[in-house]
Amino acid sequence: MDGAPLRQSSAKSSTDASRSFEESCCRFVASMAAASPEVVRGIPLFRLVRLAPLYWLRGELQRLHHRSEVVTEFDEFWSHSWQASAGSKCINILMRTNGVPAFLLSMVSVMLATLLARLEILHPRDRFGAAWCVLLGSLVYYSTLLLWRQRRVVFLDLACINQTDRELKAQGIGSLGAILKASKSMSVMWDATYATRLWCMFELAAFLHSRPAESKAEIMVCPPLLGPIRLGIHFGMLLLMLVYWPAVFFGGLKVLGGAAFVCLCWAGHTVRAYWRDVDMMEKQAGQFSIARSLCSCCDAGTECNKLTCDRRIIAACIRAWFGSIAIFEERVHYEERKLLANRLCNNSITYFEMVQAAAPILWLGLDVMATRENMHFKSAELAKDCARWLAIVPFIMKLCLRLTYSLRARCCTVHVDILVSCGIVAVAVALFLLSTIIDLNILQRLIPDPLYANLTSLGIWGLAAALLWRVLPEIQVADEDHGTRLSLGHV
Ligand SMILES: [Zn+2]
Repeated sequence: MDGAPLRQSSAKSSTDASRSFEESCCRFVASMAAASPEVVRGIPLFRLVRLAPLYWLRGELQRLHHRSEVVTEFDEFWSHSWQASAGSKCINILMRTNGVPAFLLSMVSVMLATLLARLEILHPRDRFGAAWCVLLGSLVYYSTLLLWRQRRVVFLDLACINQTDRELKAQGIGSLGAILKASKSMSVMWDATYATRLWCMFELAAFLHSRPAESKAEIMVCPPLLGPIRLGIHFGMLLLMLVYWPAVFFGGLKVLGGAAFVCLCWAGHTVRAYWRDVDMMEKQAGQFSIARSLCSCCDAGTECNKLTCDRRIIAACIRAWFGSIAIFEERVHYEERKLLANRLCNNSITYFEMVQAAAPILWLGLDVMATRENMHFKSAELAKDCARWLAIVPFIMKLCLRLTYSLRARCCTVHVDILVSCGIVAVAVALFLLSTIIDLNILQRLIPDPLYANLTSLGIWGLAAALLWRVLPEIQVADEDHGTRLSLGHV
């Protein structure tokens, strides 16, 4: 008896069973339901920040799952590509979540140090260096950054989906729609691989679909270099304040300029790289295609023989949610690309963040103030430092941010590239020295009283900074020619 028809029939029924299983998977994932209430989990941010480095060092990151909790609603869904660097993700998380509490607590601590110095409980600094305010401020800032108990509950797949039990892992992945529906917002930890990963795009599609049609989806995008830049500027400022008085004492303004240059050069170089990253993100979002995206199940454009294919399931879900793949891709190419690029170009480093980064200027000023005997001179010192902290530095930084944007293109050789970054920082240092020279040689000659001279400086520079931050045209994201570049509006 010839067994071929039987085998063919058996193969056909097996294929039909696979198809029907895959179709039921598609229907389940597209329905955005949870396999069980236990798979919708979140983890308090402070717990994640405290335990993730510990488990990472021990090679036991999968243990994070035991520290997650079943939730019905949580604050943020963190979407990320597993290919991205873990270090930059950690710094971004710390700066985004703990940056403001660290700034506020450090300010409270320096006010306390000033009061204790006034009551002569703490002794003022000697002439060679920073004292209580800089030391206490930096200690409180960096320890709060690491240890603040942030109560926001987040979803991170590594912690909230079981990574060791295959069945539970499959249930968690299949319930991503339900998990995204339970999230109030989405944070995309974007990197060069994000827009090429199929599962990342699935998360984005599911989140957009889960929001009511009339509301704007709240998506925060965090490029890899943003946190390191904020941290680098703060740390550079702190180093500068630590060397400020030794530099002035031993070498005057030239040495101070040199010290500032070394401290801030790295930040300038990184900001240029950040703008190139934004360009790349905009380009990738403009050219994004489900068919070309990558996943571990199968290569793009090949026939997948697996029982359930991730690519087919995700494509079916997107068709069910948006009508067609093309409609979803068009939304990413135009609407979402423009929204995200605009946010990254114009709102990634705000005035308030600049003030936070420049806080060490005030700390050193308060240390100097403690050494003055006369109340009038104390007030004059405070006015001078407020002018630098709140007006002069934000003014220079805004100008230099725009300069780094204009000169963001990578140069022909590494040496020229570094020279360009150094040139931008040289402009920043020169502008700061110019502001000091204007204060010393013009304002203080016209107004002999140091308090009134410094208050006038605060007023003039404050107005200039406010005008620059309000009036400088925003970087415009092009409407047409979506796959190419961003352009400056009105410039
Ligand atoms: Zn596949």
